[in-house]
Amino acid sequence: MKITGLNAGCMKILEVKNLKVYFPVYGGFLRRLKGYIRAVDNISFSVDEGEVLGIVGESGCGKSTLLKTLALLLSPTEGEIFFYFEENPIALHSLDKSARISIRPQIQIVFQDPFSSLNPRMRVWNIIAEPLLLHSNLPKEKVKEKVVEILEKVGLKEEHLYRYPHQFSGGQRQRIAIARALILHPKLLLLDEPTSALDVSVQAQILNLLLELKKSFHLTYILVTHNMGVVRYMAERIIIMYAGKCLELGKTEDIFKKPFHPYTHALLHSIPRLRKENKRKVILLPGEPPNPMNPPSGCPFHPRCPYKIEICEKISPDLQEIEKSSLVACHRAEELNLEGIF
Ligand code: SF4
Repeated sequence: MKITGLNAGCMKILEVKNLKVYFPVYGGFLRRLKGYIRAVDNISFSVDEGEVLGIVGESGCGKSTLLKTLALLLSPTEGEIFFYFEENPIALHSLDKSARISIRPQIQIVFQDPFSSLNPRMRVWNIIAEPLLLHSNLPKEKVKEKVVEILEKVGLKEEHLYRYPHQFSGGQRQRIAIARALILHPKLLLLDEPTSALDVSVQAQILNLLLELKKSFHLTYILVTHNMGVVRYMAERIIIMYAGKCLELGKTEDIFKKPFHPYTHALLHSIPRLRKENKRKVILLPGEPPNPMNPPSGCPFHPRCPYKIEICEKISPDLQEIEKSSLVACHRAEELNLEGIF
């Protein structure tokens, strides 16, 4: 199935086709191959320029592995990834080391934990200037000018330049990590749970900062999170991942109003509400997500699905278009009539 981006006619920036990322597992006295962890299992999607695409799922569903593969930090086992640079598709899956280095300024990543993603022995100046010194021949004064400029864009000041990461709060550290990612003016920014390690009070500030920066730098985001509230605030489209597979893909608004997959339905009904009168029934899923080394036959969600029927245990459902821009992998998607939350 051809999986398109948000708007027909919009310029595509990224296209992922049948991507698989498997990790071999060795064991026993002779360290023989015992099997594979299927972290990402046959995922396809595309992203338009200027879009925010959210990738949602439980811990261990493969969303961070997918992001690291797009950031060229991991190599795909199978499948294709095309990055469109000045309208030319670049096959990221088959780049050699030097070609990877030359395309890296265009695709940057912000990691989840700003406490471990910044080198504690480097000052802010070195952390932010390092990519610029590696990828350009600018004189030192010009580099400093650019570093100060980006620092101010993320809400910090020149006086912070010569401090170490431990002298900052969590929110400020994440601002430094964002500045480091933006210093090379990338086209695509990959955000790996950028607020989950932060206090609730600063999460909203960082999300708003990201939205402002997206406008001023004409960025495209792929945002990985397990927080449905964050994805609703930020993303135009969502991919719901489970056990390395895409179960549902569609516009954020449509998914929140009318989910088609029982797993999406359960995720939406797990969002807590503050007011007693607004409380909705929480859907508790039995069991645990499957072992990625030994996924269940048929639909990967069937051991926990309250709507499973016989076919679900035998045949894995394909991702099918059920409505315009809504794709779902469920044998019963059309008949279930699941309730949204807005
Ligand atoms: Fe549930 Fe079957 Fe749909 Fe899987 S295919 S989500 S088991 S109803």
